[in-house]
Amino acid sequence: MSEFILSHTALKAEAQRLGFSVCGCAPAAPVEDWRCRQWEHYLANHHHAGMAYLESHLDKRLNPRLLVDGAQTVVSLALNYYQGDACTFGSYQFARYAVGRDYHEVVKERLAALLQFVRQVSDGRADGRAFCDTAPVDEHYWAWRCGLGWLGRNTQLIVPRAGSHFFLGELILTAPVDHYDAPMSSHCGNCLRCVKACPTGALSPADGLDARRCLSYLTIEHRGPFPPELPHPPLGNCIYGCDRCIAACPHNQSAPLTEVQDFYPRPQLTTMTAHEWQNLTSEQFSRIFTHSAVKRTKLEGLLRNIKCASFLIE
Ligand code: SF4
Ligand code: SF4
Repeated sequence: MSEFILSHTALKAEAQRLGFSVCGCAPAAPVEDWRCRQWEHYLANHHHAGMAYLESHLDKRLNPRLLVDGAQTVVSLALNYYQGDACTFGSYQFARYAVGRDYHEVVKERLAALLQFVRQVSDGRADGRAFCDTAPVDEHYWAWRCGLGWLGRNTQLIVPRAGSHFFLGELILTAPVDHYDAPMSSHCGNCLRCVKACPTGALSPADGLDARRCLSYLTIEHRGPFPPELPHPPLGNCIYGCDRCIAACPHNQSAPLTEVQDFYPRPQLTTMTAHEWQNLTSEQFSRIFTHSAVKRTKLEGLLRNIKCASFLIE
């Protein structure tokens, strides 16, 4: 049977039909040396804080061929989640990405549909796997390598004229495509707005992100009390994540609104008062955050964050 070659144009058209804002392709080769060195530096300096899972399967993270037998192509896709209004409910703010339905579910449904499209147009000669933040795939690297945008100093993917409010997903396919995209050079220039906006000094132009100081890590991934060197992290009114280095970026000033209704704030959030947040029960937490990424921090974590932020609220 002759080798099937996927049409780049047809793939992009289907991705667009499924609602993805940007789609690009790159050969499924090991990641470039500079990125390997970045990972080694990040891990050796413990910039990954308590995210020990990042130490596991580094070989797979650096080589997509180890994730899918016969991998030939990585397809990177970006889904816009920008909702416009600030995500503040009862005086407390949430990171934008977390206020709607869990992005893993939404992105994976669309990735599964795109993978099904590939199987159909190839008459079963092409297959692959879909990934959305659930396996050791270096998603920011692949978004860059597939030409979706550049990697900003705030570590986010920045899509030209659209900014960085995007969820990323990947297909690793066993078929080649008839055209591969070229990576984009950085347009950050001498800008340091994100670095200056960071309240904890977690971003360094030379060293990248140190998760040990990052409020996004501390309020979501970190368990237990905040580290002694940050006994009162400057959360402001933000109790889940931190969007400051994203909001400061000039490329986000004219971000288009998402058409994905799932990413707009869930109604259960909009009626909450500051008093209700401060007295949040287990039953309320389960009800409000069903199918939500916020469940990751667990009730204990969210109450810890609320307590830390509350001195500003009242
Ligand atoms: S998310 Fe907040 S704390 Fe983390 S690097 Fe960005 S501005 Fe700094
Ligand atoms: S704020 Fe400036 S330096 Fe930071 S990511 Fe945006 S353009 Fe790059």
